[in-house]
Amino acid sequence: MKKHNFYAGPSILSEYTIKHTADAVNNFAETGLSLLEVSHRSKEFVAVMDEAQALVKELLDVPEGYQVLYLGGGASLQFCMAPMNLLRTKAGYLDTGTWAANAIKEARLFGDVEVLASSKESNYNFYPRGYEVPSDLDYFHITTNNTIYGTELREDPDVPVRLVADMSSDIFSRPVDVAKYDLIYAGAQKNLGPAGATLVIVKEDVLGKVDRAIPTMLDYRTHIKKGSMFNTPPVLPVYSSLMTLRYYKEMGGVKAMEKIDLEKAGVLYDAIDNSKMFVGTAAEDSRSIMNVTFVMTPEYKELEKDFVDFCAARGIVGIKGHRSVGGFRASLYNALPLESVKALVDAMAEFEKQH
Ligand code: PMP
Repeated sequence: MKKHNFYAGPSILSEYTIKHTADAVNNFAETGLSLLEVSHRSKEFVAVMDEAQALVKELLDVPEGYQVLYLGGGASLQFCMAPMNLLRTKAGYLDTGTWAANAIKEARLFGDVEVLASSKESNYNFYPRGYEVPSDLDYFHITTNNTIYGTELREDPDVPVRLVADMSSDIFSRPVDVAKYDLIYAGAQKNLGPAGATLVIVKEDVLGKVDRAIPTMLDYRTHIKKGSMFNTPPVLPVYSSLMTLRYYKEMGGVKAMEKIDLEKAGVLYDAIDNSKMFVGTAAEDSRSIMNVTFVMTPEYKELEKDFVDFCAARGIVGIKGHRSVGGFRASLYNALPLESVKALVDAMAEFEKQH
């Protein structure tokens, strides 16, 4: 039986993605070779890479002057690549969670970092607003969705400096005004494909402005020059990502995905808000539509483990919260069907009735 997969990443992928990846593992593009054993320089794979870049541009309406890359190293490598390529003296960061804090730590290796706002004091349960972005920064860095804490910024901020965003856990869940950003990065393993590829969208004219020596592999210009083929790219994750992008296109693009995502999140937040047993952990104005975090009220707290087991028995997996928040986290990435959310909501109601 197919499980209701609420894992935070790696996470559910569309059936389309999995089926077509499996087919290509058997016989890639009628080459008589597996996707796993084909040269990344073959014309068939070069076509995959080209289309995987072009579809990102199409789906996110990426303006001229930007390049799309597929790199290795995860989003975590971008925590150092971004400052290495862009930071001359000072950058501003929002401290909105563990991943943002990791990004700040890396940036400090390359220059001054001003934390312009932080929600750390309240265990990152809200997305800060009302901070000033000074105009003397080299760039301002945000994490649009805080996967662990279930908070999200669903708008593109207007700032007087270059804007860099970690969109690992909410890319393709809404239209983005890419022109407002100079660098966007996202680990593939949520809304794109299996782990192993990182999507980067970078404005070309922001590069080459720092004085430091940049190791070849960590210089965005290396990968731009070689079309993400400077070294062997993560072939299978790129192929799977292309399948997901084709699926999004077929579904009507990111606007259509957003509509479905909003509906799914609405169903779950309504259930939480109408329950006496469950309570959301994120401030209402900061709630993520990708990762919904909730706990049991103090009265029922000791039943949290039982609820995880209760769900597992119904084929609902991946809802245990991250250890830094506790309770539950239901990740509602694009590929998760509404039926899975309904199954979870039914389980919540049934469990509440039994206790
Ligand atoms: N940023 C965010 C928002 C994340 O959720 C994660 C974890 N998946 C990371 C960065 C780190 O990603 P990776 O494991 O690909 O380095």
